Amino acid sequence: MKILILGGTAEARELANRLVGLGHEVTTSLAGRTQDPILPQGGLRMGGFGGIPGLAAYLRVAGIETLVDATHPYAGQISINAVAAAQAVHVPLIRYMRPEWEQQIGDDWITVETMVEAAAVLPHNADVLLTTGHAGLEHFLARDDCQFVVRTIEAPDMALPRHASLLQTRPPYGLIDEMALMEREGITHLVTKNSGGKQTSSKLEAARRLGVKVIMIARPVYGPANEVSSVNDAMAALGLAG
Ligand code: NAP
Repeated sequence: MKILILGGTAEARELANRLVGLGHEVTTSLAGRTQDPILPQGGLRMGGFGGIPGLAAYLRVAGIETLVDATHPYAGQISINAVAAAQAVHVPLIRYMRPEWEQQIGDDWITVETMVEAAAVLPHNADVLLTTGHAGLEHFLARDDCQFVVRTIEAPDMALPRHASLLQTRPPYGLIDEMALMEREGITHLVTKNSGGKQTSSKLEAARRLGVKVIMIARPVYGPANEVSSVNDAMAALGLAG
């Protein structure tokens, strides 16, 4: 089978490796933003397609039989484009989406739709652990009545103001370290996307144990696709044993 995987996640890499192992012709597409990414087996292409028409043209010209969108849950634009491009050229679309984190007893979450809303609901003088990445940082930093610990993998382009400090680290994060960080910094609010998965979920348990409020930014909505929530289910959706 000739398969295009829209990648950028560990699960996309796992799927590509398994499909290549079974002898399928797989190309993984990466946006090309991460320095030194861990590469999957099989073919590789880098950079944007040029919107919906570009992706549709690629699918047609390369003779792709199935498109798999295994991008990060918050990579909204490429997932929307995948729906429209696959429909335009009548290529089946499978979307792998990590299961969402769900609120548990003892959690104190406020769910919002956007970064702007998340910044607005922070109370005056909140001590915030901000784990939403680079996009939308300016909305939070405009709140100079709050203090921020900005945790990112790669340093942001902008200099941080005096009411924010940068914590540049890479997941996975464990519960003990997350609790120590929140206690050391006197965190009252955690702002996070609902990324799902285990690599960064300890912050939610730490927040639960310490009574830290969580501002949860909901996932974007992408449109119809055959959606699966595990790599095994993606294999099954491709007609291959899981
Ligand atoms: P995005 O906002 O959905 O995409 C913006 C544009 O980047 C798309 O319209 C597309 O350009 C290009 N693009 C994105 N993913 C691509 C891919 N896999 N292959 C080719 N082009 C791609 O995405 P983003 O949030 O910037 O994320 C970029 C990549 O990083 C994604 O592949 C995602 O899996 C990965 N990632 C994102 C996050 C996150 O929190 N957003 C976290 C971890 C990993 P054209 O319109 O020109 O085709």
